[in-house]
Amino acid sequence: VTKADGGEDRSFRASYEDVGGLDKELQRVREMVELPLKYPEIFRQLGVDAPRGVLLYGPPGTGKTLMARAVASETNATFMHVNGPEIINKFYGESEARIREIFETAQRRAPAIIFIDEIDAIAPRRTDVIGDVEKRVVAQLLALMDGLKNRGQVIVIGATNVPDMVDPALRRPGRFDRELSINPPDRVGRLRILKIHIRSMRVDASVNLEKLSQMTHGFVGADIAILCKEAGMNAVRRLLPQIDFTAGINEADLDKLNITMDDF
Ligand code: ATP
Repeated sequence: VTKADGGEDRSFRASYEDVGGLDKELQRVREMVELPLKYPEIFRQLGVDAPRGVLLYGPPGTGKTLMARAVASETNATFMHVNGPEIINKFYGESEARIREIFETAQRRAPAIIFIDEIDAIAPRRTDVIGDVEKRVVAQLLALMDGLKNRGQVIVIGATNVPDMVDPALRRPGRFDRELSINPPDRVGRLRILKIHIRSMRVDASVNLEKLSQMTHGFVGADIAILCKEAGMNAVRRLLPQIDFTAGINEADLDKLNITMDDF
């Protein structure tokens, strides 16, 4: 099942340990999403409405998708990934039906998280010049969210880089009424993210993470992930000529390989 289908997506599991520099934000998401998914009976007993929708907003690559996946994985909830522009464009003419199916599947496989990436594409401000499809899709999405009666068993997480472009009707009580801004990491955050991404890499003592965290001012998590991957590839390229393949690679040779500061 591809993410374009808005189908259940088991392709990627993430844990809270994979999310760096967003401690407070992760804590909030856990309160809003994990608690009601795990303990719906507490909310039912108290007559407290769990959030149906949470809106995460902030620049691309800051970890919005990663956080949503981590909460789903850690709570063993079904994770349904919906991409806003794809629902509108790829399923043109069937967009509303797709959304309905996604909600039905989520309810059938509850507890579930429906993650709607680039939700501004589905639900732009209706006052803006938008087409009929978007209008009908917004109306459908609103109706489906209003219909989520089950306390806390299906939660919709929307993500956007442009919160002001999201239809205000979606941000009313009972819909996406919790909002959380996800900002680019500061130096300490970048250090945490660097540590996460080199976790499985074999780095030399020369690799100075403090220094890298200072040098990467302006980098978001996704940039740091790429930086680490590229350092790894640089090391491969640098080391390949040093290996004597004619003799076959032996353990002793492998043992000498590692990634150095210069590779970053
Ligand atoms: P977009 O708005 O473009 O969808 P996003 O905020 O959803 O961006 P992600 O897709 O979660 O960003 O980030 C892409 C990748 O970057 C993640 O899979 C992860 O490898 C890395 N990454 C981003 N943010 C973080 C973070 N805070 N901690 C660790 N890794 C991160």
